[in-house]
Amino acid sequence: MRIGILALQGAFLEHKKILDTLKVENTYIKTKEDLDDIDGIILPGGESTAMGKLLRDFEILEKLKSKIENGFPVFGTCSGMILLAKELMNDKTKHLAAMDICVKRNAYGRQLGSFETCEEFKGIDKKVEMVFIRAPYVESVGENVQILSKVDEKIVAVREKNMLAISFHPELTKDTSVHKYFIEMIRNS
Ligand code: GLN
Repeated sequence: MRIGILALQGAFLEHKKILDTLKVENTYIKTKEDLDDIDGIILPGGESTAMGKLLRDFEILEKLKSKIENGFPVFGTCSGMILLAKELMNDKTKHLAAMDICVKRNAYGRQLGSFETCEEFKGIDKKVEMVFIRAPYVESVGENVQILSKVDEKIVAVREKNMLAISFHPELTKDTSVHKYFIEMIRNS
């Protein structure tokens, strides 16, 4: 198994470190050709407007979108969740628009811009460590979307078939459980 990590902008190095710890082969994705030789992709946190623009400039967007729509496993964290959403509450620009979720950007406001917590996560048999940084949350989901985790009634983790999206940054903790969940998704795909 070989997992790609979108490496145009944002926290890609931290995802690499987790995959290295888990001894899973991985590679950075910087061009559309890089998409050909991987079994799944991680879209890291960062800044979704910048990442969306780079995805377009490097002509990765359309190819990645069509792969995802054909069942290619994808894991979006924070900005990655924003890239995957079919709808954004407070932004007209959509990016991959593949997942049937409506996402609110910077949803916790300035005061509560960054915080940490531990919460239940469906499919993981322990509480997961969660670091939120100017995070989005999911405002509403379509009927085929499974809610995996909520923090204070807000949806922070969702799954729709081959797509996994979370509001927080698991790569900034020592908790590898969400990455393991994604690796299982790829194994079963
Ligand atoms: N606020 C960022 C955005 O809108 C996401 C922050 C993050 O990825 N930590 O893209």
